[in-house]
Amino acid sequence: MTLPTKKSRSLARAALAMSIVCGGCGAAPEEAAGEPATTTAGRTVTFEEFLGTVHQEADGRYIYDGDMPAYSMGELRQAWERMYPPNGALTAFPYNAYTDDVWPASTKLNITYCISNGFGTNKQAVISAMSAAGSAWAAKALVNFVYVPSQDANCTSANTNVEFDVNFATSTDTLASSFQPLTPRPQRTLYIYSVAFNPGTGWPLSGLLMHELGHVLGFSHEFRQPGASCTEGGGGRPITPYDSGSIMMYPWCGGSNTSTLSQSDMEGATQQYGSRVWTNAVSPGGCGAFPGGKGLDRGQTLSSCNQRFYLQHLPNGNLHLVKVDYTPTGSIHTEYWSSGTANQAGYGMYMQTDGNLVIYTGLGRAIWNTNTWGNPGSYLAVQNDGNLVIYSPSGQPLWNTGTGGQ
Ligand SMILES: [Zn+2]
Repeated sequence: MTLPTKKSRSLARAALAMSIVCGGCGAAPEEAAGEPATTTAGRTVTFEEFLGTVHQEADGRYIYDGDMPAYSMGELRQAWERMYPPNGALTAFPYNAYTDDVWPASTKLNITYCISNGFGTNKQAVISAMSAAGSAWAAKALVNFVYVPSQDANCTSANTNVEFDVNFATSTDTLASSFQPLTPRPQRTLYIYSVAFNPGTGWPLSGLLMHELGHVLGFSHEFRQPGASCTEGGGGRPITPYDSGSIMMYPWCGGSNTSTLSQSDMEGATQQYGSRVWTNAVSPGGCGAFPGGKGLDRGQTLSSCNQRFYLQHLPNGNLHLVKVDYTPTGSIHTEYWSSGTANQAGYGMYMQTDGNLVIYTGLGRAIWNTNTWGNPGSYLAVQNDGNLVIYSPSGQPLWNTGTGGQ
């Protein structure tokens, strides 16, 4: 990253001290413990919950956030949007037109590196900061950065005993630079420049390296997404909505965080590499129905028994129902319905044993559900007529997509 000529930092907003549970979403099969749930609105506080904290003065003014006035519902809504931006963050570097740039499964749990002795008296600080940064990404996502000190004496880009080398160079305007997962080995050097060790850069070394390891994992700058105050070309696939709290922001481009991964950074990383804290959905196999406890993982499908329709949890987290029309030369696939959850890090779709159909992120945060909890024994049917229906054990339809009669 390159330092701007003029910097400004905004302060991170204090963490919200209230815990909000996704009302009635219930637990997914084999729920992992300890992850905070949030509402399905994609914000930590819904507008309705925010209104619950607002009071109105005798003169008609609304007072929010303790002492802030608003003169209309529209102003209140704007205030809420400012105070609680949507969760979300990462954008994947493209490898080509079809695939993201990610580490292969054979390497992602053993991404090895050496640290050059050229860091001199700063070397111990680099060792510690690399360890903290690697551990932050590996805390929730199925990746591991592994330091190999035995290669430090020969820690150059020509060393093929490690996946990458961490090296020192002199610069007055660049803090650090890195590379993307499928970059050829001779270019896989993470440089930390001399200026990064000066006090007052605005980036703690461990936070700076979290940002650089984000690039190493295949994530581009967050400010490629709409809403950011800086722009950068190059495309990329948004994995999650825009998030000013992402470590992949710059503080001088509206970023509010230089020291930790945001929730959506972690959700995006689990989306790309798999989760340590949330279980994959288990497909029921066969055709036509999901009993409680089954679901679809990213990319998986289940067809109606006449093979004319299929339900698919796309790798981008969207759940969609597709009609297949067979032609003499092949087949035409038409989307009939979708959950509208693309690019929100939807990790899997789970038909819960309580009757609720829920899409969770890789941290166990519910982003969408059918509100049909409290009906144990219900199942989800992918019908031959094109309708997607949740039936109670007595055969009552509880929810459907309204796409039947095909
Ligand atoms: Zn960067």
